[in-house]
Amino acid sequence: MSDRYQSLLLFGPPGVGKGTQGKLLGSIPGFVHLATGDIFRALDKNSELGQQFMAYSSRGELVPDELTIKVWRNHVEHLMNDGCFDPERDVLVLDGIPRSLNQAKTIGEHIDVLAVIHLECPDINEMITRMKRRAEQQGRHDDADENVVRKRFEVYKDETAPVLSCYDASLVTKINPIGTPAEVLMNILKVVVPIYSKNFANPLA
Ligand code: AMP
Repeated sequence: MSDRYQSLLLFGPPGVGKGTQGKLLGSIPGFVHLATGDIFRALDKNSELGQQFMAYSSRGELVPDELTIKVWRNHVEHLMNDGCFDPERDVLVLDGIPRSLNQAKTIGEHIDVLAVIHLECPDINEMITRMKRRAEQQGRHDDADENVVRKRFEVYKDETAPVLSCYDASLVTKINPIGTPAEVLMNILKVVVPIYSKNFANPLA
């Protein structure tokens, strides 16, 4: 087995439902959900790192690559030390990373991408509505301001969407994110369950 972590990427624009689907997948034995946005939001807001995150995210910008990869690596190590991630048994479900070509290159040294789930939403207004709702429900500062939301979409188009070109087309599956969480999950599972079963033993056996 390769010494890189076998991973599934949840890919798509802000508000498309990566977090919802990542959490659902992460509740299945053998799937470990890791969302960089959640890791950043869990930082102490008064720490230097927390302040840096707030500065970038409140403008709708990406946190610099080097910092992001460092935080990601630390988190993976913590998950392993805490017994929450065992690379022999679990697939990592990466949500929100890589988000730039540089991140894709760097993280590529640590992960083996088994599949890319591309949640593609043609209707930007649907996304903006979802994000406004989420901002109210979760108190997210970066989704409350429409200008910041629009900036997040611009950053997605310019910096993140090109990341798809790093992966062989055979690894990428487009999934329609419009539907109930259960419907979207069903369509994702149709893709990822055979891949999981091919690469891992039953984690409960
Ligand atoms: P998210 O919850 O995934 O929408 O992320 C919220 C914010 O966290 C983003 O707008 C960025 O400022 C920051 N962030 C999350 N993931 C990354 C990443 N991979 N690279 C850089 N910044 C990130």
